[in-house]
Amino acid sequence: MPTESTFLLAGLFFVAAALGYFFARFGDDEETSDAAPPAGKLNADYIKGLNFLLNEKPDQALEVFMRMVEVDDETLETHFALGSLFRRRGEVDRAIRVHQNIIARPNLSEMHKEQALVSLAEDYLSAGLFDRAEDLFGQLKDSDEHGVYARRKLVRIYEVTQEWDNAVRGFEELEAIDPRAAAESRVAHYYCELAQQAFSRDDVREAHKLIDLAEKTANPSLRSKLLRADFWRSSGQHKKAIKLYGEIMDIAPRLIGDVVPKLAESCRATGEQGHLSRSLTKLLASDPSAGKAIGLATVYDPRIVNATALKCLKDFVLADPVLSNLVDLSPLADSDGPDSKQALERIREGLTRVISKGHRHRCRECGYISSELLWQCPSCRNWECVSPSVELNFSTFVS
Ligand SMILES: [Zn+2]
Repeated sequence: MPTESTFLLAGLFFVAAALGYFFARFGDDEETSDAAPPAGKLNADYIKGLNFLLNEKPDQALEVFMRMVEVDDETLETHFALGSLFRRRGEVDRAIRVHQNIIARPNLSEMHKEQALVSLAEDYLSAGLFDRAEDLFGQLKDSDEHGVYARRKLVRIYEVTQEWDNAVRGFEELEAIDPRAAAESRVAHYYCELAQQAFSRDDVREAHKLIDLAEKTANPSLRSKLLRADFWRSSGQHKKAIKLYGEIMDIAPRLIGDVVPKLAESCRATGEQGHLSRSLTKLLASDPSAGKAIGLATVYDPRIVNATALKCLKDFVLADPVLSNLVDLSPLADSDGPDSKQALERIREGLTRVISKGHRHRCRECGYISSELLWQCPSCRNWECVSPSVELNFSTFVS
């Protein structure tokens, strides 16, 4: 049975055939009309190719259309559409054939050649052939029409292949010619990626130098501050880390769920529970809704024993309409005595077992969910769009 997209394709060719027929017969340029192929030939080829498509024989259809593009300039745009349709249907090999065929045409105008190079590069990207796509987009870097687009694609390729040095250079070149790029903070992220690589190979000095570079970019990201605090915490410099985590919570309450466990770890290491309590109390005074994220952090990280954080968990549990129907919360409401503490601990242990760690973060652009904080969404590839969730999400299966 012909599929829906086959009919779409068929419709496209009917329109193209009709237009080709019309201009061939009734065009006002006599010279062009004389040079055009006979209308009957045009129609016959289209209908032949169309029949192959309707009968789910795309390769035979391609052969017909490939031959046509060799003789007929007017069909060029139609063939671009055909290649694009093949790519969108996931038939990348056929899309590549169409676009390679266009590029191989003699006397192809510079405009159409660049258009075909862009399309072929898109095909290679779809096929995961990044080196070939990089080569073609590289040829288009100085194109008036496609230069900005090609440079953006090159940077995307460097992101996917994690060539962060190239990404820095590529994006800085892009900023010079594209005003929109100047408003983005991507270069800061690329330096952060390089800093993480340096830190993971124990080159701490280089890691901090790269963080310095990230902070000096035109649009620095909060990520660099968080990364530096993480470096200090991992290096045992907890006092520096505590100070920086405190600053981050003031600036970015949305990251509380990720920062609190790290701050708590550094406070445990230095025996400064009082400092953690003061930080959390200050945070709650400025934003009472922060209590939900703090309470959830104690569920994700059972090592958090801070009384202020556990009070947030208690308030969260008592206010949650689902939990109040599932669990007897009366011991919690009674007092702050030993029974209440034990009841809260039991509820916390239960929640830690059933909560879905995979749903801890969500991309606000595409809904992608992740267990960890990601600065670039792997699904939609946008930056700084993944945030900690402040909802309880339960695992489907509990072991
Ligand atoms: Zn996303």
